[in-house]
Amino acid sequence: MESPRGTAIRPNQEIAATGSELVPCPICGSEKTRLFRTDVTDLEYFVDPLRDLLIQKCGECESQFLNPRPTESELPRFYPSDYHAYNENHSRVARMLVEARARSRARFYGRLIEDRPGSIFDVGTGDCRHFDELRRFIDLECAGVEIQSEIAAKGRARGYEILEGTLEAADLTDHVGKYHVVSMNHVLEHVIEPRTMLERAHDLLRPGGHLIGQLPTVTSWESRLFGRNWGGYHYPRHLQIPSRSGLANLLKDLGFQTVRVRSAPHIQTTISLQNTLVRWGWRPRMQYGKTPIYSGLLVAALPYETVAWLCDKGGIVDFKAQKSRS
Ligand SMILES: [Zn+2]
Repeated sequence: MESPRGTAIRPNQEIAATGSELVPCPICGSEKTRLFRTDVTDLEYFVDPLRDLLIQKCGECESQFLNPRPTESELPRFYPSDYHAYNENHSRVARMLVEARARSRARFYGRLIEDRPGSIFDVGTGDCRHFDELRRFIDLECAGVEIQSEIAAKGRARGYEILEGTLEAADLTDHVGKYHVVSMNHVLEHVIEPRTMLERAHDLLRPGGHLIGQLPTVTSWESRLFGRNWGGYHYPRHLQIPSRSGLANLLKDLGFQTVRVRSAPHIQTTISLQNTLVRWGWRPRMQYGKTPIYSGLLVAALPYETVAWLCDKGGIVDFKAQKSRS
């Protein structure tokens, strides 16, 4: 359902028109929420969610989330077979950035495990080639969970213990209290029950262990600048996009200590720029959600991304939190 541009959205009427009820905030639980956007579409893969999923905003923590909440059975159709996370076909510029990220992650994880042998559980492992990368630099025992069964099999073929499914539903009997680090990069925004997922991550950690992750945040210049074309919506695949304070308070609420949320060096603005062009009607052939000029847009976005990162106002944040030592 499209709302006429330039007219004020009248939440009650819009909600009534779709038959949806306002739902509580999946980040802070508040019922003080309102309809925020009705005009978001998938400008990367053109997936049709088959029913109107609106974007609601929390009046307490300002996180944004889909309403009605998608169900488990709806999610697979949101991820087409050429979804970028399943493909490693990066451009040369992107490959350089991926390599630089692997090195910087290894240094960071090394500090977390205090440069001793350590263990990590990754949520959404993919094919585990990042484990191979990390182990080039640090002594790390690696395990995790992956939702796509063929991709989980690739991880197991590399020799890692990879559970199949979601962290929320997985049998964690052999894993509870075992890990120095639990990582979740670009996962929390994709799951139906983010709170349950973080609770289970807490269970996996040893006392004093670290939870780390990365995700988009609505508390950013980029979100304001690009509005409905913002890459962080990744509509309809991002079921919630927390505010920075909403995320930090949720982690504290679950018993995590020394919670830190900070802008991450990232290139999401490339997608926001691309979305804007596609919204204007440009329709080139796209592959893996990317137009042929993606690399050019990336180079154009880098100066902005650098400034936003230095000012701590970027559209992607890293979070870090520690389980109590006692
Ligand atoms: Zn909230």
